[in-house]
Amino acid sequence: MEKNIDWQSLGFGYQKTDYRYVSDYKNGEWDTGTFTTDEKVVLNESAGVLQYAQTCFEGLKAYRTVDNYVVCFRPDLNASRMADSARRLEMPVFPEERFVDAVKQVVKKNIDWVPPYGSGATLYIRPYMFGTNPVMGVKPADEYQFRIFTSPVGPYFKGGAKPITLRVPDFDRAAPLGTGHVKAGLNYAMSLHAIVEAHNLGYNENMYLDSATRTKVEETGGANIIFVTKDNRVVTPKSSTILPSITRRSLMYVAEHYLGLQVEEREIFKEELNDFAECALCGTAAVLSPVGKVVDHDKEISFPSGMEKMGNITQKLYETLTGIQMGRIEAPKGWIYIID
Ligand SMILES: *Cc1c(COP(=O)(O)O)cnc(C)c1O
Repeated sequence: MEKNIDWQSLGFGYQKTDYRYVSDYKNGEWDTGTFTTDEKVVLNESAGVLQYAQTCFEGLKAYRTVDNYVVCFRPDLNASRMADSARRLEMPVFPEERFVDAVKQVVKKNIDWVPPYGSGATLYIRPYMFGTNPVMGVKPADEYQFRIFTSPVGPYFKGGAKPITLRVPDFDRAAPLGTGHVKAGLNYAMSLHAIVEAHNLGYNENMYLDSATRTKVEETGGANIIFVTKDNRVVTPKSSTILPSITRRSLMYVAEHYLGLQVEEREIFKEELNDFAECALCGTAAVLSPVGKVVDHDKEISFPSGMEKMGNITQKLYETLTGIQMGRIEAPKGWIYIID
């Protein structure tokens, strides 16, 4: 039975659900994994994650479709990205097929927490992994835990589809240069000061630049960026230091193959911002959130789409992507995994 929750008024927050998946890595192998109702993690005081931040995570969603199926969107890509993150952080890879299987199972166990179709809410799925045994010298842990919890969520930005404002901060997003493409808490920890400062100054998010030259647009704290040119091309930054967003890859495909638009992944210079017609953030949490304005110190760049609504192309991209996710529009082969 569906939980008694006011789904419409959910924000993007943590809500404890019934089951979470847990698997431990010890003596060079992962155990068979299990489900627990215990949301607490108890660790040694010198655990690798606590001392040297050895942890990475993923984020995806389960959706209830128009035909009342529960599905998730391209979990195989989350599995392979988490494997990349693990390798970069010297952690053992949780096998990709087991990752997808565990995602399906944990959603099934929490099926009553999947928000109804049309409520605007979805079930967020958070796989993560961390070093558990004590370490003192700087080296990788020998033991790890992989877990997946779920939480029903509403929109990431309050105000729904209202355009937001970004500012260009004097901080880099990723901790050390070159780890920005790893989905890891260490990058988020280094972005917290900039996000708190942005909020205090009245901005919604930060638009980070490449840390080597500080001339090129990278991404925001937790979402990639797309632009639409005045002649309706969809453009997104090419960079080896941004997180390869699955939403972005999907949107670029949708733009090209569903909407017949020209797409480009290329370096985008801050100086070009004035030339674009539309701008939006994309990610599992942000979905596709329109950006109305970017403030770069004493310069303000307002996109022609304005501060009241999504631009035309952004709107089409949003409707097509969410249409695919919610079963209103036929998906490309392999994008939708039916859970129940
Ligand atoms: C998760 C994340 C994104 C969005 O990726 P999706 O796969 O679309 O959810 C973008 N940037 C950063 C830094 C992220 O951590």
